[in-house]
Amino acid sequence: MNRTDCCDSLGDDHLRRIYEYLDGALSAEQLEAVREHLRHCPTCARQRELEELIRARVRRCCQEKAPEQLRASIRMRLTQVRITDVS
Ligand SMILES: [Zn+2]
Repeated sequence: MNRTDCCDSLGDDHLRRIYEYLDGALSAEQLEAVREHLRHCPTCARQRELEELIRARVRRCCQEKAPEQLRASIRMRLTQVRITDVS
């Protein structure tokens, strides 16, 4: 499982691609590329799961859009968990 090789297909900012994917901000072609990548890349698939988790939790807490700071802090905590998990 080579993370770098795998994620290269989405480019450097593939994480942002995943967020855009969830936002529905991609073209049909890009959407298909991300979807295809998620099928083969456990790293990005996991990242997508985490992001969906964040979004679901945020939706439950506040009906409105969550403050960006809250989102950032949740995401940072999840990232730390992920790093601890891997090493
Ligand atoms: Zn990937």
